[in-house]
Amino acid sequence: MSTLVKTGLLHACAGASPALGGWFLFSGERIDAVGLPGEPCPPADDVLDFSDCSVMPGLIDGHTHFSLSHSDEIDPMPVMRQLGEPGPRKICKAIMYAGEHLRAGVTTVRGMGEDDFIDFDLKAAIAAGYIDGPRVSPAGAFISPTHGHGQTGQTVSDGVEGTRKNCRVNLAKGADLLKVFGSGGVVSGQAGLGYCTSTLAELRVAVEEAAALGKYVAAHVHGGPGIDLCLEAGVRSLEHATLCTDEQIERVAAAGAWVTVTFSPLSHPSGLRGLDPLKQSRLEAIRRTYYAVVGKMLARGVKMCMGTDGVHGAMWFEAAEMEKCGATRRQCLEFITRRAAESCRMENDIGTIAPGKYADFIALRGDPLEDLAHLRSVAAVYQGGARKG
Ligand SMILES: [Zn+2]
Repeated sequence: MSTLVKTGLLHACAGASPALGGWFLFSGERIDAVGLPGEPCPPADDVLDFSDCSVMPGLIDGHTHFSLSHSDEIDPMPVMRQLGEPGPRKICKAIMYAGEHLRAGVTTVRGMGEDDFIDFDLKAAIAAGYIDGPRVSPAGAFISPTHGHGQTGQTVSDGVEGTRKNCRVNLAKGADLLKVFGSGGVVSGQAGLGYCTSTLAELRVAVEEAAALGKYVAAHVHGGPGIDLCLEAGVRSLEHATLCTDEQIERVAAAGAWVTVTFSPLSHPSGLRGLDPLKQSRLEAIRRTYYAVVGKMLARGVKMCMGTDGVHGAMWFEAAEMEKCGATRRQCLEFITRRAAESCRMENDIGTIAPGKYADFIALRGDPLEDLAHLRSVAAVYQGGARKG
């Protein structure tokens, strides 16, 4: 059965000019055709009339964790404790958060690490239709050493062979990527933002194991020598990169590595809260530098996408903060759709409204190129041609 989608304004590909009165046709899960400007609509079995809306590809969150939220009002607790909660409890919360993503227009999420491998189960349950949620590109368990960020004691990756084993466990379960650590984090214990807890050999073996199955590695890294070690090891995507120096930005650009920018935990009202003085000082150090660092990355042409890192559905906020760094609105829309699809290596399936790709799209009650705030006025969400919100 074919379905014709009529739009007021069609943003088929973020970065390109939108088409007034644009239309596209899909059957089943995939898009068949996209109308050229002025081209008459073809006949179809069904019609979705969004003539009073802007329509654009579904949003892509490049970095989050389904098992945690910085703003859990039901049972507030530090994020590291949330990660270590029993698996079934995390799954229950993850189902709720998956719904929050969808309702906010996020149709794909890259899961950047979970204990109990819940992202694999979540992905399978969504794909089977047991629950609604975004498409999931899972990393599985963190590849972190005993004293590293994100370590809850469940999958400890020490030394080359210890690291290799946990990489292989994740890959066997269906990981699209492996998540390693090139520095501590805001909520870490001993490991601060400028210290690297992984050795070059450990980072290299993760890259080697991922590449052996055609996968890639993403590294949590704020600053310090870990950024250089990750680049040297061949890590494909740097997560956060909040304290990147000017020299390191040059090296990131030269290496063609991706950066996933995450403003939400730092600056969103539902971001990191209630920290002790040490962790609060780390957070403030990042806040002071991040907007300038991202502005420099923009100027240097570093490949970027964005992620909410536990503020579920807040891609509108990520886009708005990116505009403050000097990005054009077109770039902001690219980072949360087309560029994110490339970063996730899913560009053949998602990221634009184009023949052959999934019919993942959202209707907005306003043009996001006029004001990015319209990303919040979601009128309808479709995933694989099915209405989800
Ligand atoms: Zn994260």
